[in-house]
Amino acid sequence: MVEIQILEKSDDFMRFIVSGVNVPFVNALRRIMLTEVPAMAIDEIVVLENSSILNDEILAHRIGFIPLKTDLDSYSLPEECKCESEFGCNLCRSNLTLEAEAVDKITTVYSGDMKPENPDIVPVSDKIPIVKLASDQRIKMEAYARLGKGKKHAKWQPVSMCNYMYLPKIKVDVDSCDACGKCVKVCPEECLIKTDSGIKTQNELECTLCMDCVDACPKEPLAVEVTWDKNAFIFKIESTGALPVERIVVEAIKILDKKVKEFSDQLKKGK
Ligand SMILES: [Zn+2]
Repeated sequence: MVEIQILEKSDDFMRFIVSGVNVPFVNALRRIMLTEVPAMAIDEIVVLENSSILNDEILAHRIGFIPLKTDLDSYSLPEECKCESEFGCNLCRSNLTLEAEAVDKITTVYSGDMKPENPDIVPVSDKIPIVKLASDQRIKMEAYARLGKGKKHAKWQPVSMCNYMYLPKIKVDVDSCDACGKCVKVCPEECLIKTDSGIKTQNELECTLCMDCVDACPKEPLAVEVTWDKNAFIFKIESTGALPVERIVVEAIKILDKKVKEFSDQLKKGK
């Protein structure tokens, strides 16, 4: 049975233990979160004026990577939209405009200077610098944000970190351990501690399976053993801010579910 134990959770970050699953399953989830859960990003810009030091392409590239708040319920992917138009409609595109000028001193243009058509589709942070303008330099542009998937371009990835590792287990053999403390000193995560009654383990979840403690143990056979559970994983997910992290996981599960259903439908058809 699959069991989940949440260790940390906020809108942008989640860390949990999932047990009762295997590597193919957690890796499928991870890859779907990275490449298939849609997010909003600026896909096209029309430059009306640009006398800044950065050329149009560099500006477009920088603006494309600004994470945008995403509304998956109101917008559809351009390829799935009813409008079937390459240009897009209100259901598959949201516009933002950017107009800035430096009058008599150097001015930094930030993501927060972009004016959105829909107040829900805005940069997740308004402090991302886009370009510095010197006196009398101007930029004026219109940007089109669309939903997309990370498999097409990394700017559409809703996660900035998405990884998992085996659940570590550290064991100290009290019979052969003479509490020399060498393992305690080398552990970068302080997972071992020297007490009056010998070496004990602590914050085991922080163990990165580096095996330094095992290498440092002078005993034969080794007094410290590090293993991992093959069916339990610590998952860490950080959102770019585009979507709440829980929503990203739920969407990934929906996509995986749809894939499995499609597979089974096709299999039945082929009978
Ligand atoms: Zn449309």
